[in-house]
Amino acid sequence: MEKTTTTVAAWAAPSATEPVALTTIERRAVGPKDVLIAIDYAGICHSDIHFARGEWGPISYPQVVGHEIVGVVTETGSEVSRYKVGERVGVGCMVNSCRECANCLAGQEQYCLKGNIQTFGGVDPADGTITQGGYSTHVVVTEDFVLRIPENLDYAAVAPLLCAGITVYSPLKHWNAGPGKKIAVVGMGGLGHMAVKIAHALGAEVTVLSQGLSKKEDGLRLGADHYYATGDGTVFTEKANTYDLIINTVSALIDINAYLGLLTFDGTLVSVGAPAEPLPVQAFTLFNNRRSFAGSSIGGILETQEMLDFCAQHGIVPETELISADYVNEAWERVVGSDVRYRFVIDAKTIGVTA
Ligand code: NAP
Ligand code: ZN
Ligand code: ZN
Repeated sequence: MEKTTTTVAAWAAPSATEPVALTTIERRAVGPKDVLIAIDYAGICHSDIHFARGEWGPISYPQVVGHEIVGVVTETGSEVSRYKVGERVGVGCMVNSCRECANCLAGQEQYCLKGNIQTFGGVDPADGTITQGGYSTHVVVTEDFVLRIPENLDYAAVAPLLCAGITVYSPLKHWNAGPGKKIAVVGMGGLGHMAVKIAHALGAEVTVLSQGLSKKEDGLRLGADHYYATGDGTVFTEKANTYDLIINTVSALIDINAYLGLLTFDGTLVSVGAPAEPLPVQAFTLFNNRRSFAGSSIGGILETQEMLDFCAQHGIVPETELISADYVNEAWERVVGSDVRYRFVIDAKTIGVTA
């Protein structure tokens, strides 16, 4: 008998301006290489909000977002070899890629030359539908894009590693964060607080550059050596020419030249924050100290597993606030207002329930 789709509960954005609301979506039939995952927790990333509100360009609706997913395998396709029913697994920002291009073959599927298939808002090669994300009870994903969740990590807090964790781990590793390196993290939100924890675990000297000092105590507790406010501007003169690597996690437009001035000789500022507006750069700011301005997108599948295992080894999990699905709209407002400490995680048990 031909297998059909499964109807599952999900919270979707009906349009760019309406609140996220409970609905149902179809998940594709479990193919030979697919696993069906019963979702337990889904993190809220600022990208969910940018995307659902059309800030990066028009999208089709309704759209379910969420790409920090953990759950348990409840069904496996006939050719699945890596995962068994009952295992704890995760899904991040990608659910597929071409697997043939130079970048895919190098394990950098996030830079697939044909474009990776995003967990939400992509076109699913299996059936041509628009992919729907993790604010849902179940998801079907090809096993090659599924991660193993280490058992020793706090299960209810681990989901944000799948995006926030890997997005900062990858550039920290690529630009050799470690002992003797001065790293500055701009923005103490979901990505920023993970950058603090991971850079500290890598042995670097870590500085947070935040709009104010309200989160200073937390920053120092999570592993920062220094914590400065950018609001009054003094840090830009006092710490000029200081940092080897700056990770900019800010979701809004900032004066990137001011931050570039903080880089030491041959230093690099990596922007992972994704504001809708361009970040204009003055050439002379880069000439001084032979500075570099770079970007970075999540991480490959193997590297994501490496990051999860690194976090397991160092006992690193995100600082989370567990919420029920009917709190998502309020949570989004708090994220936009920089009032998140430091990642909201939806308890998927509440997804099919209305207030
Ligand atoms: P978040 O939790 O909202 O954190 C962003 C932080 O930026 C805030 O906590 C705030 O920190 C700071 N900030 C916000 N508005 C600001 C403003 N107007 N001026 C200066 N600082 C401001 O967001 P997130 O989930 O970490 O995501 C951060 C950005 O990364 C988003 O744009 C997201 O789309 C992007 N992202 C990119 C990738 C990638 O692959 N490159 C992956 C995931 C997310 P303070 O209060 O400490 O100043
Ligand atoms: Zn994300
Ligand atoms: Zn590819």
